[in-house]
Amino acid sequence: MIQIIAPPGFLPEKAYTFRILLEEILGLHFTITYSDTTTSYQLVLPNAHVLILADCFFGQKKEGEGYTFNDLPAEPGYFQHRIAHRSVPVLYGKPELHHYEYSTTCEADLVAATFFMTTRWEEAVKPERDQHGRFPAHAAYAAQYNLLDTPVVHEWAEFIWQCLLDLGYPESARTQRAYTVQLSCDVDHPFLWWQPWERLRTLAGAVQRPYPIREWSYWLQRNRLGGKDPFDTFDELIRLACTSTVQFNFLGQRPPHFDCWYDLSHPRMGQLLRYLEERGQTIGFHPSREAALDRAQFDRELEGLRRATTATVTTGRHHYLCFSAPDTWQMWEDAGMTMDSTAGYPELPGFRTGMCIEYPVFNFRTRRPLQLREQPLIAMDVTFLEYLKKDVAGTMNKLQYLRHQTQLHQGQFTLLWHNSSIHTPIWQPYWDALTKIMVC
Ligand SMILES: [Zn+2]
Repeated sequence: MIQIIAPPGFLPEKAYTFRILLEEILGLHFTITYSDTTTSYQLVLPNAHVLILADCFFGQKKEGEGYTFNDLPAEPGYFQHRIAHRSVPVLYGKPELHHYEYSTTCEADLVAATFFMTTRWEEAVKPERDQHGRFPAHAAYAAQYNLLDTPVVHEWAEFIWQCLLDLGYPESARTQRAYTVQLSCDVDHPFLWWQPWERLRTLAGAVQRPYPIREWSYWLQRNRLGGKDPFDTFDELIRLACTSTVQFNFLGQRPPHFDCWYDLSHPRMGQLLRYLEERGQTIGFHPSREAALDRAQFDRELEGLRRATTATVTTGRHHYLCFSAPDTWQMWEDAGMTMDSTAGYPELPGFRTGMCIEYPVFNFRTRRPLQLREQPLIAMDVTFLEYLKKDVAGTMNKLQYLRHQTQLHQGQFTLLWHNSSIHTPIWQPYWDALTKIMVC
């Protein structure tokens, strides 16, 4: 057990952040008390050795005032120290470490940095928004300083762990996790062909689009037009996930003029939902863009989905990755949901929250930890093809890199691949390559 003595003030924020760093990531137990006699975080080990972490952030702030532009970190410094197995970014404080006989002093404020990344208060402070009202990736500190490809909060936890080991903390105290893949699928278009004649419409459309590839020849190969619906790929996604389940997120009951509309009471939808339930797959919620800003609409859609399935729906992800910190999390919490998986940027893959495992979230406005957990989205199909215009090889290279980063921290590689991004002329090569690199 580690005993933490922290400076007074910002109690919920500090307790929450140590929970992330020590409990959630490292699996270490701790107690925390607050004392006027300290201006830094003192982590006292059972052998009485102490790791001292600087408090350069909360100690300077007045409790209760919100976060402003002035609170944002400056350009990061980097630890180049023997304890760091590679360079570790420092957002607040100095990249300095001092060793003494019974203690180590770290001049970087890893608590403030972790709070900054995991709560996403940065996104509420900065005014940039895209045409869908989303905070754009390019405005994020992590993207600006090349930190998006690294689960930085895990790096900070690892750095603390190495310091603790150096001070004589038992290696066996740490909980080991296994690396996992969480495959998810937002079902925007359950089927391409709801009526038989729509197959001909697909061919006609393809003939009119000879460039960049001859789409019509794709559809005429292997009896594709006469065979299974090309969006009915649920079995293939289940196979790709091997022994773990796939999270299939469905749009709820909405007015027909909303985009990606489908009727949950259609017999084919009933069949599909039952099929997935019987195979033990997760049925999640996919709120519309309108629901992202409207709690009543969110509730109506969720209720509609719950009526359509016998599965318990408590997880999901927003359509278009509409996410606004901390309001999205609070809305999910208030609706009784247990897990959201929206926190990834549409335009760039990577670690938006600096995390690569699911973790409890914190409302920085109400200053309260929530029951809700976030399973951060690391990559999705359309980011590569539509936003970044990456070819197949470039996409697979990036996916493998991000997967490797996640593996280094025994994380959960959360990947979104739409059921409609598989058997189409454009997507087929990407899917074929994906199934080769994501082998069981
Ligand atoms: Zn969607």
